[in-house]
Amino acid sequence: MSTIALKIDVDTYRGTLDGVPRLAAALERCDARATFLFTLGPDHTGRAIKRVLRRGFLGKVRRTSVVSHYGLRTLLYGVLLPGPRIGRRCEGVLRDIDARGFEVGVHTWDHVKWQDGVTRASRLWTRRQLQLARTEFERVFGRAPVAHGAAGWQVNSYLPLLQEEAGFRYASDTRGSSPFIPLIDGRDVAVPQLPTTLPTLDELIGREDLGGVDPIEHLLRCSEGGGDHVFTLHAELEGGAYLEGFERLLRAWRERGATLTDMATYAATLDPARLPRCAIDSGSVPGRSGTLAVQGRAGA
Ligand SMILES: [Zn+2]
Repeated sequence: MSTIALKIDVDTYRGTLDGVPRLAAALERCDARATFLFTLGPDHTGRAIKRVLRRGFLGKVRRTSVVSHYGLRTLLYGVLLPGPRIGRRCEGVLRDIDARGFEVGVHTWDHVKWQDGVTRASRLWTRRQLQLARTEFERVFGRAPVAHGAAGWQVNSYLPLLQEEAGFRYASDTRGSSPFIPLIDGRDVAVPQLPTTLPTLDELIGREDLGGVDPIEHLLRCSEGGGDHVFTLHAELEGGAYLEGFERLLRAWRERGATLTDMATYAATLDPARLPRCAIDSGSVPGRSGTLAVQGRAGA
């Protein structure tokens, strides 16, 4: 029987206020656990409009209609409107999710800043961003975070050691095939990576190379065969326009006997000593523009 760990990336103020409670209710209806990874600082989504001008993003805009998913207001945050501080403005929602027994963790402080800057950033910059998120998490939840999932699967070589220093116990910052111990400059990092192993729904919608196969059917096929998986979803999408499809997916997984769980429960089943040691490389995945962090080949 397979285990599917559900990781929810929460990127925006609106996604936190509206998408998160809708997702929590859907997960409870399906008796599924999940990890909510929050963006805790300012919502500067409007600054990501710049990305529209970049090559490769236009296809995605056409497919998934950014304005309808994120709302016009969200697209102005950080540009024409000040970006709301998500941790401060949404702390009731955040604490409610924790109180309902869902795992909570850190996605990032400032999603746009991290996504656009981390791959070229210094150790000091990375440490500062991680620290800002960690401090706000502690203020909201009264304890230190242990789960991390990098915004946009963007990392640099400093991040794994900084996660170790900051007391994170596991992270899902990468795309890959199975959990691994990151190997950085020939050294093992104590924070295992639980990579996202399945495509996201938005990577599957409108893809011509899938020959018209329903994205939910495609995901069910990808997760056949009993292996364990990490599935990433977004509060802005599965907690919005894709909610019905997501609930259909949850029920189909349940019917097939899968265990739908959170990162903490999944991580507890793993023995770090038996995990492969892999580098973190830069790569790409079908249906998503640009490069992201991927699991490298297993090293010695
Ligand atoms: Zn994100």
